[in-house]
Amino acid sequence: MADTLIKVDLSQSAYENDMIHNRWHPDIPMVAWVKPGDDFIVECFDWTGGQIKNDDSAADVRDVDLSQVHFLSGPIGVHGAEPGDLLVVELLDIGAFPQQQWGFNGFFSKQNGGGFLTDHFPQAQKSIWDFEGVYTKSRHVPGVRFAGLIHPGLIGCLPSQDLLNTWNAREAELIATDPTRVPGLANPPYAPTAHMGRLAGDARDKAAAEGARTVPPREHGGNCDIKDLSRGSKVYFPVYVKGGGLSLGDLHFSQGDGEITFCGAIEMAGWVHMKVEIIKDGVAKYGIRNPIFKPSPITPTYNDYLIFEGISVDEAGKQHYLDVHVAYRQACLNAIEYLTKFGYSRAQAYAILGTAPVQGHISGVVDVPNACATLFLPTEIFDFDIRPNAKGPTKFLSGDIDIPLAPDL
Ligand code: ZN
Repeated sequence: MADTLIKVDLSQSAYENDMIHNRWHPDIPMVAWVKPGDDFIVECFDWTGGQIKNDDSAADVRDVDLSQVHFLSGPIGVHGAEPGDLLVVELLDIGAFPQQQWGFNGFFSKQNGGGFLTDHFPQAQKSIWDFEGVYTKSRHVPGVRFAGLIHPGLIGCLPSQDLLNTWNAREAELIATDPTRVPGLANPPYAPTAHMGRLAGDARDKAAAEGARTVPPREHGGNCDIKDLSRGSKVYFPVYVKGGGLSLGDLHFSQGDGEITFCGAIEMAGWVHMKVEIIKDGVAKYGIRNPIFKPSPITPTYNDYLIFEGISVDEAGKQHYLDVHVAYRQACLNAIEYLTKFGYSRAQAYAILGTAPVQGHISGVVDVPNACATLFLPTEIFDFDIRPNAKGPTKFLSGDIDIPLAPDL
């Protein structure tokens, strides 16, 4: 059995574990070193570090401290990795802990985080998803059960100081265009809740003040939330510092394309078994700017879909020019409206789109003025037939079960 390089104790605060960090900074010390060809196991907290509980109240999602996230395991150094190399990471297997066979999905309050459809779902809501081997189902969303496409939402290497400075400068420039916006346009460095791993003293305080937040995906990968980065996939990461400094976390049991609910997929704590290799000078050899990856050879086989189209005309009827964000939102809203005809609440339908192996596609971006986005909803995940027919939809759900909601205080 491979060595477990990083262990987590779910009954302990992530801040007490010095093999965890929640900011990106080149000075965060490696917590372990491995050689090319080694395979090893890394344990991870859920992305909030245990702030969300398995209960029937969404108060914890409403009140979550988002400045604490994401709690990442690492960084792990790889002997021989130098800036300009590619770090090849094979995700051999991923799982939940035997003692914690559940995950959560939530919608953040518009006042605290928001999300893709926050204007339609402005208050905090939460559903709990129980795992049954490779399957999951929720007591808050009846009539649906599916196999998970398990993956780390967040994985990448430490940035160089130059790259970190670039991130902070360009994001500060964006924030300055509308500094009081709710939710914010981006998240600037924030020292009070920074966890800088094993960094200590003045160096720690300097790094905490400028460490990049972990929210967005960036050149190094980071919080990409790509559902297809599942067990069995192989990722090629640019290396920016000696040793690479690989960190990961934010494990998802399953997620729909776009992670539209933002809190997020089916979020879980768990472990990743992985193997590393190096391609010397791979960044220049292959012209890499952002990571590339090969997908898993084992994925849930849902072959039948109902596909919802959306165009770049918004809810108010306003025309937008080739805007795929607007178009995908319309595809999602169209799918939600459709699912309510079978007895789902709008919140339950939204949760299904955020958690199930839903595919999102950019179908057309040239036919001015409308972009066309499509949402592929697998029909086989439902206990009943959701396809249209001449008789019209049958209400399969009585509507007496819904997703807990916590009103803003
Ligand atoms: Zn996540």
